[in-house]
Amino acid sequence: MTNKLWHERAATLKMDGRAFIDGQRVWAKSEQQFDNFSPIDGRNLGLVARCQSDDVDLAVSAARTAFNDGRWASQAPAARKRVLIKFADLVLKYGDELALLETLDMGKPIQYSLSVDVNSTANCIRWYGEAIDKIYDEIAPTASDSLALITREAVGVVAAIVPWNYPMIMAAWKIAPALAAGNSVILKPSEKSPLTALRLAEIALEAGIPAGVFNVVPGYGHEAGAALALHMDVDCIGFTGSTKIGKQILQMAGQSNLKRAWTELGGKSANIVCADCPDLDAAVEAAIGSIYFNQGESCNAPSRLFVEASIKDKFMEKALAMMPSFQPGDPLNEDTIMGAIVDATQLKSVMGYIAAGKSEGAKCLFGGEQVRLETGGYYVAPTIFDQVDSSMKIAREEIFGPVLSVLTFTDINEAVRQANASSFGLQAAIWTADLSRAIKTARALRAGTVHVNQYDGDDITVPFGGYKQSGNGRDKSLHAFDKYTELKTTWIRIS
Ligand code: NAD
Repeated sequence: MTNKLWHERAATLKMDGRAFIDGQRVWAKSEQQFDNFSPIDGRNLGLVARCQSDDVDLAVSAARTAFNDGRWASQAPAARKRVLIKFADLVLKYGDELALLETLDMGKPIQYSLSVDVNSTANCIRWYGEAIDKIYDEIAPTASDSLALITREAVGVVAAIVPWNYPMIMAAWKIAPALAAGNSVILKPSEKSPLTALRLAEIALEAGIPAGVFNVVPGYGHEAGAALALHMDVDCIGFTGSTKIGKQILQMAGQSNLKRAWTELGGKSANIVCADCPDLDAAVEAAIGSIYFNQGESCNAPSRLFVEASIKDKFMEKALAMMPSFQPGDPLNEDTIMGAIVDATQLKSVMGYIAAGKSEGAKCLFGGEQVRLETGGYYVAPTIFDQVDSSMKIAREEIFGPVLSVLTFTDINEAVRQANASSFGLQAAIWTADLSRAIKTARALRAGTVHVNQYDGDDITVPFGGYKQSGNGRDKSLHAFDKYTELKTTWIRIS
């Protein structure tokens, strides 16, 4: 499509903010709504249902009824597979519409909404669909007078609470394995980006997922989200979001019915570049490309860059040369690679961190300001801070914006110590030509994923999740089924 066509479609696209419960589009019972503003230009995209505990009760009841009567859970895995594959095909069929909704709702460039978000969502749903009729149960090696079967069963009613940075992908990472395993699901999208989740539910119904099996309750976290986390009839909660709210989710699970609670939380990933880095250009491209992708609003963004002192000047010269190409542009133009920050609150938070970096003595080498103010949207220039110290706020806290902190080291052990001196442990990277050093460092780094001589390794086949306060679960790969299934042992006496 041309840029002009994207703008024309954006102006006429119909957006439906009603909840999706038991196969129907409905407003909240209280009839309360909230406005949904686009970060691109501040325009009002329309009203969204403000679901609260009585709407959550309805969604949970629909999901429970659907689970208990087996309309989905009791279908043969091969039958569920066919439906999920059709669901994935339909996501691609409606790809332009979904990409446009995603870009308008949270500000990411349209080219990535299409090439990354739509494609990854479809791929994730297809992959779990294809997986489910290839997983076998187990027979334990017991004595000959008995048979012990170890089987996996769906947990039941799963609530998925997701953030706004990759709204569709984060939803797919939860709903695809949960649905594939036979569960019923209630999805709570972020109040900042509810539109694609709601559309996905309609598409799922069109694909053949029975009514009641997949419900979506938009609304605020402290209302719809908390009602799900506290609900006595939700069996499992899959949460992706901030560490602060993740802790509350675990408390609410304990306070209510001890539902299984899985958390995928924040990050402050360390990217260590040694002087013997085998390809400095690739290291610079990865460091810069990865921190500014999605406007820096990625949980795994390598926001702490540790460069060995002897190559620092050369590295920074190359890095600074790349910066102008990351200037934010109109997200609806196909050549834009940096879009808008999701909303005014997040903008204020990012600008607050930039101010803290400056006041704590870090040197702002590039950016550091809000741009494109004339649009009415929220844009921040890609920003690099040099002379950062590990004790500074910008080195300790997750900024979730386009801000890179550069630290220098002379001893790899010291770099690893500082990399690990974080409450987070989502991802990390080491760049070196020395194989032993790469392996030793990868082993020493306390992170769920470690990259060696790259930062873009990512595939649905591998688990994604963190150590420490980056969470307690793993999305993606076959391991995600561990979250949405129970293990049952059945003993059979052989007489
Ligand atoms: P957030 O924690 O503010 O919100 C996440 C979700 O929780 C939203 O749907 C929100 O409405 C809901 N919520 C808020 N308060 C709640 C409450 N009291 N009870 C129940 N639900 C509540 O996070 P965010 O700002 O939407 O997302 C950014 C965060 O997500 C970052 O920290 C980022 O690192 C993290 N993230 C992690 C991963 C991962 O896989 N580890 C992936 C993407 C984003």
